[in-house]
This record gives sequence, structure tokens and C-alpha cells, in this order.
Amino acid sequence: MNAFLEQLNALKLYGMAQTTLELLARKQAPSFLDGLKQLIESETTEREVRRIRYQMTAAKFPHHKDFATFDYKASAIEKTTIEPLCSGHFAEQAHNLILVGGTGTGKTHTSIALGAELIQRGKKVRFYNAVDLINALIKEQSENKQGSLVRRLQQVDCLIIDELGYIPFPKSGGALLFHLISKLYEKTSLIITTNLDFGEWVSVFGDAKMTTALLDRITHHCSIIETKNDSYRFKQSQQNTKK
Ligand code: ADP
Ligand code: MG
Repeated sequence: MNAFLEQLNALKLYGMAQTTLELLARKQAPSFLDGLKQLIESETTEREVRRIRYQMTAAKFPHHKDFATFDYKASAIEKTTIEPLCSGHFAEQAHNLILVGGTGTGKTHTSIALGAELIQRGKKVRFYNAVDLINALIKEQSENKQGSLVRRLQQVDCLIIDELGYIPFPKSGGALLFHLISKLYEKTSLIITTNLDFGEWVSVFGDAKMTTALLDRITHHCSIIETKNDSYRFKQSQQNTKK
């Protein structure tokens, strides 16, 4: 039996290996078909757990957030807006989401929690801070490796671009981001978090024509979620001082 277990492990059938041990420990052996069914079921579950773990790491979320810890009562975001999005259909249709509002209003929290929900439903997600993404695009260009990030991001179902507009970026960076977003159009969903109204986007991208073209693409299939201006942290600290 040891050789059999070794074989299962060598084939990376860890779920089957585990269940084999459990079946052996039982007093009564299951029928051949029942045993086989249990082995295959455990392998399927094990692979799904591993896929989720791998994709959660590959998404590069800055920290973990979920909706279980999200207090809708303290937020301008409606549960009825978020719940249908958790099914992940929006990502299948390359539909975009823009979370717009002041700082501390739950934009990043919501984007990470939604990203994690998508991964649970078999999707691939990549999280980027807007400035880091632009720096990566600039670096790639300076190293003559243009296009590799675009190609990689075309493979994911949803790209999260966090904090667009918090820090201005060079005009060349705006053009690179524009190019990336054009390439992802109707292929990869975007979740963009920003403190800027659309009218202010030109101030980050620098070029009015390009900004109009960009907004045209992004907002073509898009839901806009306004998080308003009440900072959750500020409210919490006020409540704490009142206690
Ligand atoms: P933003 O990205 O809009 O600046 P964050 O999502 O980073 O805001 O939120 C700031 C902090 O407050 C985070 O720790 C986040 O988890 C928490 N937070 C914000 N809104 C809520 C909420 N409605 N319920 C629970 N925690 C929240
Ligand atoms: Mg944020």
C-alpha cells in the first residue's frame, strides 16, 4: 500500500492519497465503485482548493478583505448592488465597474472583496495600484519588452486598478495606460477605484482627446458605484471618542 500511496503522491493526486488513508482506516471497506467515487470526489475538491489558493496569491491583493466584514449600514454602497456582482457574470461579459468617492469610503475594500468572490467562482483576477501599474508599463517600455504585461492581463478575467487619480502620473504613463485599457476592451473586466469625477480624469491623463476616448471605452459597458464622502475610519474614530 505504501508504494500505491507513493504513486498517488508522485502523480500529485494528493486528494486521492488522503482519502486512501481514510478508507484504509475504516473497518469496513467500501465497494469498488463507492471507493472510486470517493477518491475522485476528494481529488476534485483538493484541486479546487489548490486553484483558489493559487489564484488568490496570483491576484496580488495588498491584503485580505471580504464582504462578511463589510458593514453596509455604514456605507453608501447598497448590498443589492453588490450581491448580483458576486456571481461573476459581469466579468464574463467584460463589464466594467467604477467605484468613485472620497477616501476611506470602502472602495479598495469592495474591490478586493469582489475580486476574491470572482476567484471563488473560477475566475482569474489581478490587483494593481494605478501608479504601480503605470510604473510597470513604463519599465517594460524602457526594457523593450512592450506588450508582455498587456498579454498577461488579457488572460485574466478582471483587472482591478486601485486609486486612479490619487497621484498624477507622467503624460507618457497616461498614454501607456490608455493603450492597455484599449487592448483589454471587451476582453477583460476592469474594476477601477478613484476619487475623481469623470470631468477630472483629464487632469491625470493630461490629454483631453485621449481621456474622452478612454472614458468612451470604459463606460460603454459599465456600472458606476458611488461611495460618497463619509470616511468609515473617520466615523469609527468619532464613535470611539464618544464612548
Ligand atoms: P477607500 O479605498 O475608499 O479609501 P478603504 O476601502 O481602504 O477606503 O477603507 C478604509 C478602511 O475602512 C479599510 O480598513 C476598510 O476595510 C474599512 N471600511 C471601509 N468601509 C467599510 C464598511 N462599510 N464596513 C467595514 N469596513 C469598512
Ligand atoms: Mg483605497
